[in-house]
Parts: sequence; structure tokens; C-alpha cells
Amino acid sequence: MSMKPNRSAPAPTPRPGAVAAAVRADSGGGSDPYEAAARPPEPAECPQCHATFTGGRWSWDEAPEDAYQQLCPACQRIRDRFPAGYVTIKGAFLKEHRDEIVHFIESHAKLGHERRPLQRIMGMEDTRDGLEVTTTDSFLARAIAQALQDTYKGDLKLRYSPDEHLVRATWKR
Ligand SMILES: [Zn+2]
Repeated sequence: MSMKPNRSAPAPTPRPGAVAAAVRADSGGGSDPYEAAARPPEPAECPQCHATFTGGRWSWDEAPEDAYQQLCPACQRIRDRFPAGYVTIKGAFLKEHRDEIVHFIESHAKLGHERRPLQRIMGMEDTRDGLEVTTTDSFLARAIAQALQDTYKGDLKLRYSPDEHLVRATWKR
């Protein structure tokens, strides 16, 4: 018997915080580092939100009883307080229609969330500039900003990080 290390052992689960550090250090392209780092064995269930990972994707299907337990990428981002998208809403229209806009954003996010478990709003905060919405997924931030413009007109600006894993959308009216 040789004493060679067993190279077929599964990769260890990343330490808490290690993913955020890897994301910050990542300057290249490729897939979302959170999703890549969180690719669990199958089937897996997120102990936080109970999303299920099967067939290479997260869904709201019910997990089998013996499913592996692993935080999904959205819950990891929430734990690390590390959004993938920011939507900043500015201008006089917001001051007059704040409740309507908040409701619009929430219902838009809810629709997407039912089909895409990783697309969630992390927070909504009043800032000096207006209202800031943070999301666990860059597509959701972009979709919210685009929906605001489609519905209410105004000006929309999108800025992506070089690897496109982070989007900052600013909508003003
Ligand atoms: Zn989760």
C-alpha cells in the first residue's frame, strides 16, 4: 500500500469570509465566484432559505431528506454583506412617489424570486442621494432599474465592474 494522499477527496467547503476575499481579489472574467465557490455536491439544500441544488441549478423544489447542507450563493452574499448589484434611485419623482416605487421594486423582485432563488433584494436604504437597493444578483439589479425606466421613463445609467459580477444602476427622474 502506498501512502499517497487521496486526490479524489472532495474539495473542502470554503471558510466563512473566504469567498468575499476571493471575489475582491478576482479581476478576471468567468462565472460568478460565489456561484462557483458554492457549487455543492448534489442534491444539496440551503439550511438558511431551503433552496435546493439539483441538476446544476438552484430551485425551490423540495430537497430529499439526505440532501447535503450548504449555504446557497445568495445566503452567502447576505451573510458576507456583499451585494452583486446596487440600484440608486434619485430625483424629485422619488420624493413624491416613494411608497409606490418601493412597492414596484418589491413586487418586481418577488416575481423573479419565485423562479430564480438566487435573485433577491438584500436591502433598501434611504441615503443622502435617495434610495439605495442592494441585490444578491447583478441581473436582478439591472432588471429592477430597467423596469423603472420602462414604466416611469427617466434616466438610467448602468456601470459594470470589469468582470461584470457587480452592477451599479442609477435611475433618476
Ligand atoms: Zn440560501
